Amino acid sequence: MNQENTTDVQEVIILGAGPAGLAAALYAARADLNPMVLTGTQIGGQAALTHQIENYPGFPDGVGGVELSDLFQENAERFGAKLEFDNATSIDLRSHPFTVNTYGNTYKTKSLIITTGASPNELGIPGEKEFRGKGVSYCGTCDGWFFKDKKVVVVGGGDSALEEGIFLTRYATSVTIIHRRDELRGGAILQERAFNNPKISFVWNSVVNEIKGSEGVERIIVENVKTGEKSEIETDGFFVFIGHTPNSDMFKGQLEMDDKGYVIVDNRMHTSIEGVFAAGEIADPHFRQVITSAGMGAAAAIEATHFLENQE
Ligand code: NAP
Repeated sequence: MNQENTTDVQEVIILGAGPAGLAAALYAARADLNPMVLTGTQIGGQAALTHQIENYPGFPDGVGGVELSDLFQENAERFGAKLEFDNATSIDLRSHPFTVNTYGNTYKTKSLIITTGASPNELGIPGEKEFRGKGVSYCGTCDGWFFKDKKVVVVGGGDSALEEGIFLTRYATSVTIIHRRDELRGGAILQERAFNNPKISFVWNSVVNEIKGSEGVERIIVENVKTGEKSEIETDGFFVFIGHTPNSDMFKGQLEMDDKGYVIVDNRMHTSIEGVFAAGEIADPHFRQVITSAGMGAAAAIEATHFLENQE
């Protein structure tokens, strides 16, 4: 392990800088805990990859995902939160203070708030890995521009597939949404917008078996799950929005988790180890909204503050 430096014992370290992590940082900073945030690779988390957020209270005209993330960060830093652009590589929760290792440092902390979020699921079909970044994408906001005046396919039937599919119509000439059932999981407003968008069409009861191309994606093989019939669809882009997996590998064997890898917390964000809290999508298989993640982050920081007070 490359642990070059061991620093003083922190009051609280927050892993992750999405809405949960930055809300926790704000509350912990205002409680004078001098929180250290190890940001990981994506400040703002998945929210920062969302083009427009329309359901975060206080922004009646919506707010850009990056803009909201910047505001979260500014707000936390104003009260003294320290953001370290570093990635935790392993942790040790067996003794207190807890240990957090990054590529270059070892940190000790009296309390820990885990907000490492979740990552998009892959389909696991032939061609998906091969064409990743060459037509296969998991983020319309990030990659939509590359498909200006081109055809794209979206897989999924939830809010993400609909929201990102609608966003992609800004660039693409057509967006074909392929869903494995004949009923969408996404909410009513997004459904209505998608159905009314002339660039969007749906392929129902179907799954994609393979992505084909040469330099980039050119076509996909689709199978109707009801009839077994197979067909080809020509496309330049292939976007996958089929849910997420919590980023919890690092905590396996140390914290209680459910069978899908979500860290189990009680209604006050306490994990199975005293002094360790979790918030946001790492601990929430159900709501997964910016507002609920931020609320969980604030709650975790309040509880970390009480934990530290009781220790004194
Ligand atoms: P989701 O709600 O879990 O939907 C995933 C979709 O992918 C489902 O339609 C599912 O099909 C399909 N799917 C899953 N595995 C598949 C596979 N192997 N092959 C083909 N299709 C597959 O995930 P999400 O859309 O990412 O949304 C996650 C959460 O974030 C939700 O709570 C959602 O409300 C929230 N969200 C909200 C907004 C918003 O409010 N504007 C925007 C984005 C996300 P089935 O339907 O058949 O299961």
